Amino acid sequence: MTLNLGRDPQVTDSNPAILWFRRDLRLGDNPALQAAIDSGRPLLACFLLDETRDEWRSLGGAARWWLHRSLDALQADLARHGLTLFLKRGPAGDLLREIAGSSGADRIYCNRLPEPAEAAADREIARSLAADGITLEQHDAALLFPPPQPLNGSGAPYKVFSAFWRACLALPEPSGPLPLPGRPRAAACSRTGADRLADWKLLPTAPDWSGGLQAAWSPGEQGAHRCLEAFMEGAARTYAADRDLPGKTTTSRLSPHLHWGEISPRALWHAMRTAAASGALGSRHAEKFIAELGWREFSHHLLYHYPTLPTHNMNPRFDAFAWADPDRDRPTGAALRAWQRGRTGYPIVDAGMRELWHSGWMHNRIRMVAASFLVKDLRIDWRHGAAWFWDTLVDADRANNSASWQWVAGCGADAAPFFRIFNPVLQGRKFDADGDYVRHWVPELAGLPDRHLHAPWQAPAEILAGADVRLGDSYPRPVVEHAEARRHALAAFAAIKEAAE
Ligand code: FAD
Repeated sequence: MTLNLGRDPQVTDSNPAILWFRRDLRLGDNPALQAAIDSGRPLLACFLLDETRDEWRSLGGAARWWLHRSLDALQADLARHGLTLFLKRGPAGDLLREIAGSSGADRIYCNRLPEPAEAAADREIARSLAADGITLEQHDAALLFPPPQPLNGSGAPYKVFSAFWRACLALPEPSGPLPLPGRPRAAACSRTGADRLADWKLLPTAPDWSGGLQAAWSPGEQGAHRCLEAFMEGAARTYAADRDLPGKTTTSRLSPHLHWGEISPRALWHAMRTAAASGALGSRHAEKFIAELGWREFSHHLLYHYPTLPTHNMNPRFDAFAWADPDRDRPTGAALRAWQRGRTGYPIVDAGMRELWHSGWMHNRIRMVAASFLVKDLRIDWRHGAAWFWDTLVDADRANNSASWQWVAGCGADAAPFFRIFNPVLQGRKFDADGDYVRHWVPELAGLPDRHLHAPWQAPAEILAGADVRLGDSYPRPVVEHAEARRHALAAFAAIKEAAE
């Protein structure tokens, strides 16, 4: 069906302004929306699913689920403001030209996507639209400190977080968030040829695995603000002390809302600073949370300056690392599948991987432990892990995912040294001392006493029998022995170190 956004002949209005939503699925603190309203023109809002662009073509299953739900919410929010969201699948540049052509618009407003590949594609679109007299006006909405600044004294990007963040904090403070807009004027257009959201088939069908996601999340701007409110009234108050404990809600769980732009980092920054200034929140908790937003900034700046971050080791020495190959080596392939399914025999790793599969999210501490286990205990290339996270996380984010995996693997910026290898038993005992987390996600071990919960293979036979745990049957034996795996990993690391010296 062809597109027809032809103007209603009854309408004598000025040409509409097109508002192009991407990963900024919100009305509050949306600079592109504000600029479009300020233009005084009636608005025509659209979201274009451009699968010629890697960002949209490669969306993981959990992300597709989130996107459907978030667009659904945005449609409802826009409808409350008297606007319709025009949906269309296809190459964004071509569609924008068609929409502009048929509606008489000559200006398109959008917020920048910070990823370098997306920015390059946008530049191309802007160039080709300009040839037709159409302006693409871009705004910054995704980051607190949009790149390229800050750079170090030699004009190079920072590779160490603490120095990067100090430099950010020395920049002017991010301005306060824009308020929710009033009721904009809607462009009066026919919408022949628009897609229906359901036709995009973003939701899983047979089998529908999305029940856990459905129970855990409320995608959309309102869901994001409810999530922030719950955090401010609860976990924010002990954030600096408890954020590493996975067994209770100790962090904000705002990451998917931030990724999809349902809430802005500026809104979070100012919510924290205001709460701290009024005494409602201890400033050490507010500043710790803001520093975590800083890690998000750092990851995006790294991707901006090193566009191959998702695919190449930042430290090229790791190109020679002797990874075990799950595609060629059968036991390694089986170990990768055991990791993905939460059946490694290490309860803290399995709990995390099951949380991920069930809810599309995993606590940060456990992401580090599970990732370290894949890269160091199983010696599987971090890119296999990043790909699995990409498919299963609702907050799957090129910058954060790639930078974090490289950080864990030891080949990234400011990385944990490769020789620092997490012991999954000690990590479990330290951060899940009362066993709440493992008992929730690995219920077949729930009857074990705390002492044995994180290393069931070391429990005496009668304790296992008393808890109805049958190793190798109801719960797997460890896929590798940690101490031995650690020795192998260190030997492989020593080999690339020697080669470089
Ligand atoms: P909070 O503790 O409440 O932090 C607030 C916000 O700060 C987060 O929402 C997030 O946007 C940001 N943040 C916190 N920690 C980090 C961090 N270490 N790096 C970057 N930003 C951070 N985060 C993603 O958003 N998408 C990913 O794809 C992703 N992949 C990861 C892969 C691995 C191997 C690891 C170790 C971490 C990954 N992270 C990723 C970072 C981090 O685990 C999540 O951002 C965090 O767990 C989200 O939970 P939260 O919103 O409750 O965090």
